[in-house]
Amino acid sequence: MELYAESLTEYKRLKTLEVKVGDLLIGNFHPIRIQTMTTTDTMDTIGTVEQSIRCIEAGAELVRITAPSKKEAENLLNIKNELHKRGYFTPLVADIHFTPNAAEIAARIVEKVRVNPGNYVDKKKFELLEYSDADYQEEIERIRNRFTPLIKICKEYGTAMRIGTNHGSLSDRIMSRYGDTPIGMVESAMEFLRIAESENYYNIVLSMKSSNPQVMVQAYRLLIENMQSELGHCYPLHLGVTEAGDGEDGRIKSAIGIGTLLEDGIGDTIRVSLTEDSEFELPVCKNIIKRYERSEEDNTPSVPPIKNIYQLIPGITERRTRKSFPIKNIGGTNVPVVIADFHKKDKISREDLKEIGYKYNALTDKWNISDMAADYIFCGNNQVDFALPGTLKLIYNYESWKSSDDKKKCFPILNEQQYLDESIEKSSSLNFVMLDCYSKNYPGFDKEKSFKKIKNDNASVLCLSTENKNAVQSVRRMFFELNEREIENPAIIICDSEKDTMDESLIHFAIEAGALLIDGFGNGICLGDHYSDKDKIPNYKLMNSIAFGILQASRTRISKTEFISCPSCGRTLFDLQETTAKVRAVTHHLKGLKIAIMGCIVNGPGEMADADFGYVGSGPGKVTLYKGKEVVKRNVPENVAVEELIGLLKENQVWVEPALSMSL
Ligand code: SF4
Repeated sequence: MELYAESLTEYKRLKTLEVKVGDLLIGNFHPIRIQTMTTTDTMDTIGTVEQSIRCIEAGAELVRITAPSKKEAENLLNIKNELHKRGYFTPLVADIHFTPNAAEIAARIVEKVRVNPGNYVDKKKFELLEYSDADYQEEIERIRNRFTPLIKICKEYGTAMRIGTNHGSLSDRIMSRYGDTPIGMVESAMEFLRIAESENYYNIVLSMKSSNPQVMVQAYRLLIENMQSELGHCYPLHLGVTEAGDGEDGRIKSAIGIGTLLEDGIGDTIRVSLTEDSEFELPVCKNIIKRYERSEEDNTPSVPPIKNIYQLIPGITERRTRKSFPIKNIGGTNVPVVIADFHKKDKISREDLKEIGYKYNALTDKWNISDMAADYIFCGNNQVDFALPGTLKLIYNYESWKSSDDKKKCFPILNEQQYLDESIEKSSSLNFVMLDCYSKNYPGFDKEKSFKKIKNDNASVLCLSTENKNAVQSVRRMFFELNEREIENPAIIICDSEKDTMDESLIHFAIEAGALLIDGFGNGICLGDHYSDKDKIPNYKLMNSIAFGILQASRTRISKTEFISCPSCGRTLFDLQETTAKVRAVTHHLKGLKIAIMGCIVNGPGEMADADFGYVGSGPGKVTLYKGKEVVKRNVPENVAVEELIGLLKENQVWVEPALSMSL
């Protein structure tokens, strides 16, 4: 193994220690476990028991419950007893922030405790203090003194532990030395891990969560590298994107972050944090892990090994993008393009374009173009008989392209055979060339010839696709190969789904395209939904929205407001789902702005990470508004808080009237 994964060109799980949580085994090649967290008040025993049961019946293999103080930690016993009485023995996890006393009680009751190394001993003051080496060491000793009693209890009671670092809640000590960085997140956990190992306690799972999937992916990779080099072994990893939000965006963000790592064989248990009822998280978890029930023969057909493969992956600590030259608006420094796949339509009308971000106004004979307007349409053989919006171009199958009238707006897509055929006419400015990425049983064209021709061709964009079940590895393998051959043509990721439901397709697209985009591969995406039921019509509007959602979550193309909202828990001070919907309804048009909606003042301000503005519950019926990390309006009554937020956005000149931005 090199750096953080067993292999980047085939699916191989990372070997870890084995952790026992009650009767449940995590890591060491055991199945990937799924879990969630309750949102009820922990003092509401029956409410918490009933929600836990709904989660267990939906598939949860662990249920986490918040224990903000000693009394909630004590009540875990009543919850556990009631669950046992009703025949449910799923392991429980106590979620601890700031309160070692509560952790020490909970560790005697439940099967696992989660501690946040950013706040287990330290009180976060958001002050960047200067620490000398001696001060730093003194702090570590303080942690050792406060943390060791918990370790001893866990050892005595056979309780497991998660050292759960969050990007948004690093201690001032870590911030002063490492800043708000993946390496700071890793060091924050390593400090606790070293203390635990010095006590010979190893029943530990680790997590490195962030609301930014890119940061989260980098932090886990870096953690593995550090564990390998310093300890010589890896602990099982709990994966999650924190404060992912709700609905489609929350699912996409979670799938990209979690899926990117699972594709590399990293991750032993997952939680999808949605601002929705806890039980709704489980089907998403199931759709994610189902992808990793793979057999050996599903592996990418053997491809020659490539040297220095890891040098192409950004970052373990920084972002890098594959170098490409531009062809029209694809590649170079352009944001990735979106290609809408309309080839299944019988006929393409003006009305259809509304589904992909273009609204025609017959009175003015003008098009309104939204921020989420597709750049190209793959029409197959469908001719378009109306004037197109200026920014939109068409892609045709070769024969249809030949008969199209407007060669400035229409471009051909060629298979490898057509591409290599010198006798047929091509576009002088832009051709799309299909390139198969190591599909199983692929008939095999003359790849050498293709590569040679592509290398000297500055009018061809590659369309990378594969039928290999290990699609991420196969397409990534192709990117490595292109790099090794110094081929810098732009490349589109073609991602098809044959899943039965849109929920499954969404996860599939987010992982297969997102895992490549997050590492800087790909100059565009084209998603195709090919249901097993051939009569089913794809939902083009949703597909377009998913495509832009994937680009947004991988931070490669920003086209809408980003919402960072916590999943809520027993600390939450208002109805988070309703509040998120209210805030979203009035701010969804503010492209590029990051707005956090957090349930409590204890963790909210830290966890909202890099949000531009925050709406944080600060007491019953009270909201505190933040600009970045700074409080700007304290304890605003909840009934006027959304208005106040709009006022704050106006004061900061980031507000745009909804009528001026276009919604379709
Ligand atoms: S930020 Fe949200 S999920 Fe986190 S502790 Fe507060 S209310 Fe709970």
